[in-house]
Amino acid sequence: MSETEKKNHVYSHTDSSKVVMSEEEWQKILPKDVYHIARQKGTERPWSSSFEKSNEVGTYYCAVCGNPLFKSDTKFESGCGWPSFYEPISKSSIIYTPDNMHGMRRTEVTCGRCKSHLGHVFDDGPPPTGLRYCINGVVLDFEKAKEAEENWKNNEQGTGKND
Ligand SMILES: [Zn+2]
Repeated sequence: MSETEKKNHVYSHTDSSKVVMSEEEWQKILPKDVYHIARQKGTERPWSSSFEKSNEVGTYYCAVCGNPLFKSDTKFESGCGWPSFYEPISKSSIIYTPDNMHGMRRTEVTCGRCKSHLGHVFDDGPPPTGLRYCINGVVLDFEKAKEAEENWKNNEQGTGKND
C-alpha cells in the first residue's frame, strides 16, 4: 500500500464522486513528488518512471484519488520517456484543457475525478485512436490484473476454492 493510500481519505478505486480540496490540504496529504506534479503541473524526468518500460497486465489509477485511468492493454512503447497510452478507460476518466504554456499548443490532461495534472495528449499515437497520452508515472498507481481479480473473488464469495 502506497503512502498516498494511508494518509489520503479520498483515495478510492470505486468512489467516482468528484474530489474538491484546497491546495493546502493536498499538500498535507500527498507525497512531495506527487504534489509537485499533480497540483503544480510539474513534469518528472524522462525515463525516470518504472512504468515506462512495464508491460504487466492490469489497471493504472490516479495516484492522487484512485480514479481508474488506463488499462495496460492500451499502453504502448512510445519512446518519449514517459508512460504512454492510446485510450483512457472511459471518457469521464480524463479532463482536457488547452495548454499554451512554453510557446507550445498542447492539450493538458487532468484526472476526471480530482483534477490533478497527469500529463498531455498528442495526436501522433497508434491506431485505433491515433492519440498518445503522455503521462507522468509519479501520478499513476498500478494494480496487477491478478490482484484485482483476487480482490474481486474474495469480495464475491470468500470460498477457498482454487483452480
Ligand atoms: Zn485523481
